[in-house]
Amino acid sequence: AGHVRFENVSFGYDAGRPILRDLELDVPAGSTLAVVGPSGAGKSTLARLLYRFYDLTGGRITVDGQDIAQVRQASLRAAIGIVPQDTVLFNDTIGYNIAYGREGAEMPEVEAAAKGAAIAGFIERQPLGYATRVGERGLKLSGGEKQRVAIARTLLKNPPILILDEATSALDSRTEADILDTLEAIERGRTTIVIAHRLSTVVHADQIVVLEAGRIIEKGTHGELLRRE
Ligand code: ADP
Ligand code: ADP
Repeated sequence: AGHVRFENVSFGYDAGRPILRDLELDVPAGSTLAVVGPSGAGKSTLARLLYRFYDLTGGRITVDGQDIAQVRQASLRAAIGIVPQDTVLFNDTIGYNIAYGREGAEMPEVEAAAKGAAIAGFIERQPLGYATRVGERGLKLSGGEKQRVAIARTLLKNPPILILDEATSALDSRTEADILDTLEAIERGRTTIVIAHRLSTVVHADQIVVLEAGRIIEKGTHGELLRRE
């Protein structure tokens, strides 16, 4: 599950000022699409459309062949996890902050879940040993650590589709690469859309599209795009 298609999608916030034009995307279930391009190109807008934050002005978006305009908002949003660029955490434990993405979760359950299956790989690769710090209170976390917690929070919901909306763009490139490498290692089988500034951070994506002024100007793997430069 998690096959995403954009078919001839157009969108504008204001009538007469199109932001995205005739966008065609095909993201097979379980694959990774990277969307790169300059600020203002329409990358975040694209993510918000998949989340059905706004209605399209043209075309359609399907998930597993179903037009998202026909899907109940709640089930669509349950299927999609978005990690934004800036995460505001509660002044509480890592466990509590991860649990926030999971409705009605009890603390012990969350800490167990965080240490268990899906998140374990992520937590255990933390440089600071989150596995042992997950219940610690009053933590001072760096920007990179905060974003790791935000990603873990979203993974705990186990959405078939994960969107990282510049989730690591504000970090130094080393930290960004570390986080994306970890995800690459554990995120087999989940459809992932990574929105990024730099081509260098999305080396492993199955396909990369370069968006400029709302249009796809380049498409290919990292190697293919480099060869064309
Ligand atoms: P990117 O993520 O590539 O930086 P965005 O999708 O955020 O680009 O923005 C694309 C264009 O849409 C920009 O011109 C931006 O000013 C405009 N835009 C973004 N959000 C809104 C909004 N809520 N209302 C009106 N215009 C918006
Ligand atoms: P829930 O999945 O718990 O129902 P929300 O629907 O409020 O929560 O949001 C889910 C995730 O999507 C949150 O991480 C939120 O920050 C993000 N999100 C919601 N709306 C937008 C948006 N317009 N643009 C980017 N991210 C969004």
